[in-house]
Amino acid sequence: MDIFYGSTRGNQERVSASEAILQGLAKDGGLFVPDRLPVFDRTAKEFAKMNYQDTAYEVMKLLLTDFTEEELKDCIQKAYDEKFDTPSIAPVRKVGESYYLELFHGKTVAFKDMALSILPHLMTTAAKKNHVKNEIVILTATSGDTGKAALEGFADVEGTRILVFYPKNGVSAIQERQMVTQKGKNTRVIGIHGNFDDAQTGVKQLFADAELAAWMRERGYQFSSANSINIGRLVPQIVYYVYAYAQLLREHEIASGEGINVVVPTGNFGNILAAYYAKNMGLPIRKLLCASNDNKVLYDFFATGIYDKNRDFVLTTSPSMDILVSSNLERLIYRIAGEDAQKNAALMQSLGREGKYAVTGEMEKQLSDFYGNYATQAECAAKIRNLYESFGYVIDTHTAVAAAVYDKYRQETADETKTVIVSTASPFKFTKSVMAAIDKKYRDEEDFALADELAKIGKMQIPPAIARIRTAPVVHDIQCGKDEMKEAVKEFLLQ
Ligand SMILES: *Cc1c(COP(=O)(O)O)cnc(C)c1O
Repeated sequence: MDIFYGSTRGNQERVSASEAILQGLAKDGGLFVPDRLPVFDRTAKEFAKMNYQDTAYEVMKLLLTDFTEEELKDCIQKAYDEKFDTPSIAPVRKVGESYYLELFHGKTVAFKDMALSILPHLMTTAAKKNHVKNEIVILTATSGDTGKAALEGFADVEGTRILVFYPKNGVSAIQERQMVTQKGKNTRVIGIHGNFDDAQTGVKQLFADAELAAWMRERGYQFSSANSINIGRLVPQIVYYVYAYAQLLREHEIASGEGINVVVPTGNFGNILAAYYAKNMGLPIRKLLCASNDNKVLYDFFATGIYDKNRDFVLTTSPSMDILVSSNLERLIYRIAGEDAQKNAALMQSLGREGKYAVTGEMEKQLSDFYGNYATQAECAAKIRNLYESFGYVIDTHTAVAAAVYDKYRQETADETKTVIVSTASPFKFTKSVMAAIDKKYRDEEDFALADELAKIGKMQIPPAIARIRTAPVVHDIQCGKDEMKEAVKEFLLQ
C-alpha cells in the first residue's frame, strides 16, 4: 500500500515520497511525515544475511513507495559504493562491553554521509519522476558536518546547485577547511557572522520567502533542502539501525528477538528519530538514549516536558551538536500529540513566539521510550582518554558524548541490555579536541600536525578525506552578515 506524506502543521497537503523529497518542507512550514509507519516485511534472520545495500532496499522500499524497485536500487548502488572505506559501510565494533556503530566510513568521515550520499540521487530521480524542469537549488545551514557531506553529495550533480551557510566561528578548523576547499562548479560556501541557529533560522526564512521564490521561478530555479528535515535524509538513516541489529544477530552477540538499547549523540534530533521510527517499524529497540552536550535543551525537555531554547548558546568540543532548536523533534511532538497537527502547530507557534512550549502530561507519558542525559566537555574528554587507555580505541568528541551518557545511564539504572553506541564521526575530524583529551601536552598543536600523531598512537591511517584537504587550495572565501543571506543567494544564482 502506498505511503503518502502530510505536514505536521495541518494544511491538507498530501504528497508522494518523491514530491516530499523535492519540496523539503511542507508549504505551511511543517515537516513531512508518513501517514503511517509500515512494519518490516523481513525477519531479523533474513536481514542478518543481507549486505548494506540489500538492507537499504528492503527498508527504504517501505517508505519511498512511489519509487520503482529499479530506481531505488539504482540510487542505492550509486550511493553506497567504494566511496566508503569498508565494504561493510557501517560496521559494528565491540569495545569492552559496548558496541560502537561506526557511521563515519564515508567521504567526509562523519555520519551525515550515510544519508547525503544517497539524497542527491533520490532527488534527481524524484525530479525526473515529477517532470521538474527547473534547476534544483540546495540551500543548507550547517553546524559543520552536513555542509561538507551535502557539498560532496551534490558537487557536479547535473540539474542542481548547492549553497552552504556555516557559522564562521562555530566549526572546527578541519570542518571549515573541508568546506572551503570544495570543488564543483555548482557549489558555494559562505561563512555567516552568527551561530548555527542564526544560519538555520535564516535558511528557514529564505525557504518561506515568497518574493524570493517568484524571483527564482522566473529564472528557472527552485529550492530544495538537504537538511535533516528532508525525509530523503531520514529514511536512509533507518537502514543502519536495522543493519546494526542484524550484525549483532549474525555475530551471535544477541539472540533472535532480543531487545537492544541505542545511544545517540543528538543535535537536530534526526539520527535518533530514525531509531525511533525503526523501533516503531518493529526493530526490537528498548530504550532510546538521547545524549546531549552542554546545550542540553533536550535533556531538560525529557526531564520536564518543557522545551525552552531561551538560554545561552555554548560552543563545545562537539560543535555538530551545538544546537538549541532541534528541528526534527517536531516529528516526535506530532506523534505524541496523537498525530494532531493543530496541537503540534500551536506548540511550534509558541516556540516561534516565546522560544518555548510545554507538552501535556498525556503526551509526556509517551516519551517513556526515551532517556535523556548530557555530558560536559570535561566528562567527554575523560571518556576519550579512558577508552584509549583501556582499549586503544579512539573515539571522537561527539561519540564521546554518547559514551559518557551511557555510563551515567548504567550507573543510574543497572540496565544490562546490550547497547549500541552510535559513533558519528572519525576522531580525525576533531583531532585537536581528541588529542588534548588523551594528553594535555597536545593542547597547543595544530589540527593537521596532530593528525599524524593520532595515526601513530591509535594505530590507524589518516583517512584520505583528511589527507587531501591539507594541501587543497581554498576556493570559497566569502562571508556575510546574518541579514545578508538573501542577497547572497541571488548573487550566486545570477552567475
Ligand atoms: C549531525 C551530527 C550529530 C547530530 O545528529 P542529529 O541527527 O542532528 O541529531 C552528531 N554527531 C555528528 C558528528 C554530527 O555530524
